[in-house]
Amino acid sequence: MFNALIVEKLEDGTTSASIQNISEDRLPEGEVTVAVDYSTVNYKDGLCVGPGGGLVRNYPHVPGIDFAGTVLDSSDARYKAGDKVVLTGWRVGEAHWGGYAQKARVKADWLVPLPEGLTPRTAMAVGTAGFTAMLAVMALEDHGLTPQKGTVLVTGAAGGVGSVATAILANLGYQVAAVTGRPETADYLKSLGATQIVPREDLAETVKRPLEAEQWAGCIDAVGGAMLARVLGQISYGGSVAAIGLAGGAGLPATVIPFLLRGINLLGIDSVMQPFENRKRAWARIATDLPLDKLEAMVVPATLSDLPQLGADIIKGKIKGRVVVDVNA
Ligand code: NDP
Repeated sequence: MFNALIVEKLEDGTTSASIQNISEDRLPEGEVTVAVDYSTVNYKDGLCVGPGGGLVRNYPHVPGIDFAGTVLDSSDARYKAGDKVVLTGWRVGEAHWGGYAQKARVKADWLVPLPEGLTPRTAMAVGTAGFTAMLAVMALEDHGLTPQKGTVLVTGAAGGVGSVATAILANLGYQVAAVTGRPETADYLKSLGATQIVPREDLAETVKRPLEAEQWAGCIDAVGGAMLARVLGQISYGGSVAAIGLAGGAGLPATVIPFLLRGINLLGIDSVMQPFENRKRAWARIATDLPLDKLEAMVVPATLSDLPQLGADIIKGKIKGRVVVDVNA
């Protein structure tokens, strides 16, 4: 028997989440059973703990799109009992039961061996948010970004992706301009390595001119919408924007002029279906390029019983940094 946060659909169409003690035979099919040590809270988790946001098809459901833990048993030769593993994406926690439980059963293909230097707890301080931030940094580098090219803009900076992106970029020697709508997070963002704070309202609306002064060598954008459109017109010649999120909207009210006249690139970042080799590469880079003291400064500790409230908070953009859920506390 083990504890799990189970979301049930009620007769009136709403959902209700509660911690229940359930038996292992209720776990879904998969080759590897994992004793979960830690999970975390992402925007998608907020949706899945609550009304589902169209992501959850079948109830009862165990959310948690990320987890890290220890293999209990495996019918796949790549894993054996005692191995430390991390899982993000693959629609776990949405279409498949996820990490808000003391045990999980998943396909071996979805797991990544925990790299040297990371513990299950630090891996969940990173989570999908940090993994996506690393994918974005790698994509910008693959398109020629170096610290010598100039300042990198990070939008939604005090959120999960933004916090980790800021810390990684600063550690790699970049000047980082952090866009936030919460001025009270300025000291926090500077402690992560931001060299400049940009108020959200400076970039919240589009302007008529498709091109503005070239201000940023690159950008990691968690916000989308009008902010992304505005930023495209401020990127230096040949620079790139890694689009990772839609916290400010899914629209893109932009023109193609920055692409045509400044040769800039808009790079799409998906963390969910990322192939295994690139996952391994990203986790290895996280282990070397994300300073653990900065990561620790982002951590908000939590337990399974905190999740319904935290889920509602992340939807409202009220979470600062990275929640780490100790599922055994
Ligand atoms: P968080 O809620 O932790 O962070 C989002 C941040 O965006 C907020 O903290 C806030 O930052 C800012 N923000 C919120 N609402 C608005 C708004 N209306 N206008 C402008 N800024 C806003 O979420 P995550 O960091 O975990 O995720 C960020 C986004 O990335 C989400 O849209 C998520 O769905 C997406 N995502 C995509 C992934 C992928 O594979 N592509 C993977 C992971 C996440 P501040 O307070 O500093 O202004």
